[in-house]
Amino acid sequence: MAEVIRKLDETVVNRIAAGEVIQRPANALKEMIENCLDAKATSIQVTVKSGGLKLLQIQDNGTGIRKEDMEIVCERFTTSKLRHFEDLTSISTYGFRGEALASISHVAHVAITTKTQDSKCAYKGSYLDGKLKSVLKPCAGNKGTQITVEDLFYNIATRRKALKSPSEEHAKVTEVVSKYAIHNSGVSFTLKKQGESTADVRTSQNATIVDNIRIIYGPSVARELLEVSQENPKLGYKMKGQITNANYSMKKCIFLLFINHRLVDCSPLKKAIETVYSAYLPKHMHPFMYMSLEINPANIDVNVHPTKYEVHFLHEGAIIEDIQKCVEQKLIGCNASRTFFAQTLLPSSQINVKEPIKNSEGQSSKDKVYAHQMVRTDDKLQKLDAFMAGEKSSMQVVQSTDDGQQQAKNQDGGHSSKAVYYSNESSQSDKMVIDPPVTSSVRKRPHELCCEEEEEDDIEMQDSTIPTNTTSTEAGNADDLHNRSHHSPVRLTSVLQLQQDVEDKLHKGLREIVKHHTFVGCVSSQHALLQHQTKLYLVDTAKLSKELFHQLLLFDFGNFGFMRLSTPAPIHELAMLALESDESGWTEADGTKEELATYIKDLLTSKAEMMKEYFSIEINQEEMLCSIPLLLDDYVPPLQGLPMFILRLATEVCWDSEKECFDTFCQECSSFYAVQKDLPLKENKKEKNEEFPSYNWSWTIEHVLYPAFRNLLLPPHRLVETSSFLQIANLPDLYKVFERC
Ligand code: ADP
Ligand code: MG
Repeated sequence: MAEVIRKLDETVVNRIAAGEVIQRPANALKEMIENCLDAKATSIQVTVKSGGLKLLQIQDNGTGIRKEDMEIVCERFTTSKLRHFEDLTSISTYGFRGEALASISHVAHVAITTKTQDSKCAYKGSYLDGKLKSVLKPCAGNKGTQITVEDLFYNIATRRKALKSPSEEHAKVTEVVSKYAIHNSGVSFTLKKQGESTADVRTSQNATIVDNIRIIYGPSVARELLEVSQENPKLGYKMKGQITNANYSMKKCIFLLFINHRLVDCSPLKKAIETVYSAYLPKHMHPFMYMSLEINPANIDVNVHPTKYEVHFLHEGAIIEDIQKCVEQKLIGCNASRTFFAQTLLPSSQINVKEPIKNSEGQSSKDKVYAHQMVRTDDKLQKLDAFMAGEKSSMQVVQSTDDGQQQAKNQDGGHSSKAVYYSNESSQSDKMVIDPPVTSSVRKRPHELCCEEEEEDDIEMQDSTIPTNTTSTEAGNADDLHNRSHHSPVRLTSVLQLQQDVEDKLHKGLREIVKHHTFVGCVSSQHALLQHQTKLYLVDTAKLSKELFHQLLLFDFGNFGFMRLSTPAPIHELAMLALESDESGWTEADGTKEELATYIKDLLTSKAEMMKEYFSIEINQEEMLCSIPLLLDDYVPPLQGLPMFILRLATEVCWDSEKECFDTFCQECSSFYAVQKDLPLKENKKEKNEEFPSYNWSWTIEHVLYPAFRNLLLPPHRLVETSSFLQIANLPDLYKVFERC
């Protein structure tokens, strides 16, 4: 026989409904926190007992509730936030159905104490099943609202039984407070267990989102955060967030998602982002992500039950894909330790220069320097050479000079008494010997000159390469090159223009790196490693040296010393040598080599006077080359390039117009002086010959070129374009890699 259908008692209906809305203390708290935020509170204090089951109290300093509204505030569908159905589509506050307080009052004992700005006193009311139990009691109180919820689910045994232990409920309450605290960086939050003096969560009002993440989830997460943001008006959404980089991972994924400032879940979005991370993180490891989405309220499904965390919105797929791309890009861009072989990290023009952290004594005890922040500041520290098999790094003897500067000298190679070059290995007659251009006892290295006046030169060379620098300062980019005074100042506008050109093209970021670098070692004659602060760069010595010599040619124009060849070299023979080589690209159509060599000899001889005056290139009556310019102390260009240099002076220099002539001349000359690829780094010991010791390029690069780069080079932007500086490691990232191993 069929059972009789009866209508349920209204309070039972309400209780069932309330049990659906409020499933556990954490849901009730979430609703109440949202109410506080809607009431523009800047301080929210939560006190709980037994995970919120015995007591859940929330106090705010918001607008308060008007005395007149206190009567109905806990009734179902009473709200100050919504009047018409249409409002649902435009509402920007959290709750919108007036259900939360009513529901809570059906499953717990609720008391509200509240005071508005203009009320003389506060009022307290107690509620049962949505109704005020007795008349409001005036009492003392601050502006804002305090809601006390006691004995949650006292009247629904089944719900009570379904709950977890108080400590697990407390953990869920903590999670809700923490997440809202992070999202609402302008609001201070505290969560305390009743009777305890220390807070489980405490954030301050002026802390940033990252500060709050640090306080709540710890510094190891906060250190690795990347800021993400994306906006797409077409899809009608904005996203902002903080996500950990690929160097950080943990066993459980933490995903804080707020959509229109409401804490929600969106599994498809979470899955999509986790897929991106899976390519970067170790297996079974996950990121920390905080994301705040603002989606046009009209596009969100308003009929989703307020306690249902899972949300759906219009263009969901497209928005998720868009966010996925944004995350992917961020991860690629920031994970230098994984991608440095694939990606070129070039210093930007607005390089952010932090004060280098020194491990010297002058540091105050509170700025502790961690190992991963240590910066090499002493050239004595171990360099690349120490790792080269068979090489004796003991060859380097460090001497301290009076002014405290470090001077490293190579005992058996740095200062060759004579340098020998074979333009053609098989032919002894082609060898050229250069008189010792400089001895360090009489000449100073350029980098020493930045601090001192140059002493009078009394050596026989008519040298003026390194002018006095009296005004060198450490400040800004007051480069030595600018400050170099000249024996005879350049008045030619063409040269001044070319100088200006160099200054205009200066890349400040590179200048900073070059100026404050520490040399690590030569990889080859073309490449060297430099440390700048905590970054390691692979630098193209060849390209930098070409720029340096080009700049020296322009800035010391007309004031070079003479580097004399011990035996003058006949121009005709040099030209012939060049034409013999494949590099010259000679074909029969150019005429015979003999004719061409004669042409070259005649042309250069006719320019001899000018070349001597401006470039210290001397050609004597017998049409022999006697000297080349001394551009930099202790530096002899790779002389195997001399024949080609002579050939190219005749063929590549545009002799007709002044500016172009100087420009092309300086180009050719700097190409000849620049370090070349494949030069031997160390002298060949087997073939060591007392009479003609060979040249030690690694010494020259480290002790002559790089100090000169530091003091004189104005690195142009094109060095970035040609990848002459390649960041290959960043110390903090390396530490992370080691930690992971
Ligand atoms: P809703 O938030 O959807 O309006 P609630 O049941 O959460 O519904 O709250 C009912 C009303 O009570 C709110 O509209 C608001 O006017 C008032 N209210 C609740 N909590 C606070 C509070 N902390 N400060 C000020 N007003 C509040
Ligand atoms: Mg609400």
